[in-house]
Amino acid sequence: MNCIFCQIAGKEKPAKIYFEDDNLIVFSDILPRATLHLLLCPKKHYATLLDIPDDILMNLMERARIISRELKIEDNFRLVLNNGAKSGQIIEHFHFHFMSNAPHLSAGIKNQSGR
Ligand code: 5GP
Ligand code: ZN
Repeated sequence: MNCIFCQIAGKEKPAKIYFEDDNLIVFSDILPRATLHLLLCPKKHYATLLDIPDDILMNLMERARIISRELKIEDNFRLVLNNGAKSGQIIEHFHFHFMSNAPHLSAGIKNQSGR
């Protein structure tokens, strides 16, 4: 499929991956609009919030909680969803933008394998 996020999930296209498991992949946005700007995606292709199954949606929300704890930004992050092209959704593969401008993140973050 000609979808950039499917290609990233399938390792056909490189990305700075922060976390992945069987269902989800979390990677840095190529054009960050915050000190930390991650994209939280299901590996499987769903276009919008209206398409994504409840359990995968819950996995994504739970992952946002875990990342916020790992990075000690429980009280300082934004989770943004652009839903539909008219709203500004450019990539038609469901994703949350996870963003924070917490000062201690300016030194960068390591992924979960420590790289
Ligand atoms: P949307 O407007 O669809 O909610 O956001 C799509 C996001 O994907 C944008 O913030 C954009 O910078 C990011 N993006 C687009 N192409 C790529 C890419 O090839 N790699 C990565 N890592 N991010 C991308
Ligand atoms: Zn896709």
